[in-house]
Amino acid sequence: MASKPNSLYIHIPFCEHVCSYCDFTKLFYNQKYEKPYLDSLENEIKLKVSNIVSTLYFGGGTPTALSDEGFERILNFAKQYLTSNYEFTVESNVENLTEAKLDIMKKCGVNRLSIGVQSTCNALLKEIGRNHTFEEAQKIVFLAKSKGFNNINIDLIYGFKNESLNDLKHDLLEFIKLDIDHISIYSLIIEKGSILYNQKYEEQEEGESRKFYEFIVSFLREHGYERYEISNFARNQKYSKHNLTYWHNEEYYGCGLGASGYVGGVHYENTKSLPKYLEGNFIYSFEKVDEKELEEYFLLTNLRLEKGFLKADYKKLFGVDFEQKYNSKILNFSLDGYFDFTNDRVRLTDEGLILMDFVLLKLL
Ligand code: SF4
Repeated sequence: MASKPNSLYIHIPFCEHVCSYCDFTKLFYNQKYEKPYLDSLENEIKLKVSNIVSTLYFGGGTPTALSDEGFERILNFAKQYLTSNYEFTVESNVENLTEAKLDIMKKCGVNRLSIGVQSTCNALLKEIGRNHTFEEAQKIVFLAKSKGFNNINIDLIYGFKNESLNDLKHDLLEFIKLDIDHISIYSLIIEKGSILYNQKYEEQEEGESRKFYEFIVSFLREHGYERYEISNFARNQKYSKHNLTYWHNEEYYGCGLGASGYVGGVHYENTKSLPKYLEGNFIYSFEKVDEKELEEYFLLTNLRLEKGFLKADYKKLFGVDFEQKYNSKILNFSLDGYFDFTNDRVRLTDEGLILMDFVLLKLL
C-alpha cells in the first residue's frame, strides 16, 4: 500500500435545507460559522496533508452553499495541494450553483462538476425537500457546459413510493438529453435519522428494486454509458478518478467535519461535533487495518467494479491465488455463476453484482 495518498477529500458540511432522505454529516448554513469553519479546515489540511495529490474532491453537505468569498478562498487554498495533471471535483446543488460559483470554479481550476439533480419530477423533488425544479437543473447544466465544463456528473435516485418503470424511463431519457458523460444512480435507502425514516417511509420491495436496476443498466448501456461501478455510469471513459481511489481500496486524505480518511494503513473518522472541530479536535476515532481487514476491504471495494481486479494484484498483496483460496467456498455456496475469472481478472457477473451483498456475505 502506498505510504503517501494520492487523493484528498474535503467536506463542506453546510446545507441550505435538509433533504428528507439524507443522513450525511450536515448543518444548516449560517454565515457566522463559515469563517471559523474554513480557518479550522485549512489548519487540518496543513496538519494532515504532507504531499501533493492528483485528485481533489469537495463533497458535502453542499460546497456551493458557501458564500462566494468563502468558496473561492477554500478552493484556492486546496488547489495548492494538486499536481499539474489533476482531477478537481466539486459537488453542487442546483439551488446554489449560480453563475458566479461556476466562474469561481473555472478560475480555481475545477475540472469536474457533480450536480445533485435526483429526479425530473418537480412534485417529487418538492416532496423530498429539494429546493429546485428539473428545469432549473437543465438550465444550470447547459450554463456550466457553455462555460467549458466538459466533465459533469449528475445524480439520480430511484425507488420512491409509487414510482413506475415509466417514470424511471422518463428520468433516464431526460438525463441523457443533457448530454453529459457521467451519471451516478442510487436506490432510495431509508437511513436511520433521516426525515423519511421518521415518517416510516417504506423502501421499494427487493424484487421491484432489482427490476428497476436491471432496466437502468440495460437502458444506459444501449445509450452508450458503460457501467464501471455498481452505481456509476460513464461515457468516453470519464470515470471518476477520485472515487476509483476508494474502489481500488487505495489510501486518501479526508478533511472536514465528519470526514473519514485512510492514511498509513489507518482508517480514521473525524468528529461530527462542530464545536470540537472548531477547537481543532479533528479526529474522533481511528483503527489500524490488520491483514484480514485489508483483504476484506480490498474485496468489498474492488468487486464493486465492472472490471473487478487483476489476479496478479491480489496475489502480490495477499501472497495467495484468489481462486485457490476461495474455490471451495465458491463451490459450497454455489457462487460460481456469479464470478468471472477470464482475462486474468476476478470480477462479478451482472447477476453477481445485483446480488453483491449476498455473495460477499458468503465469501467473507
Ligand atoms: S442530500 Fe445533500 S443537499 Fe440534501 S441535506 Fe443531504 S447533504 Fe444536504
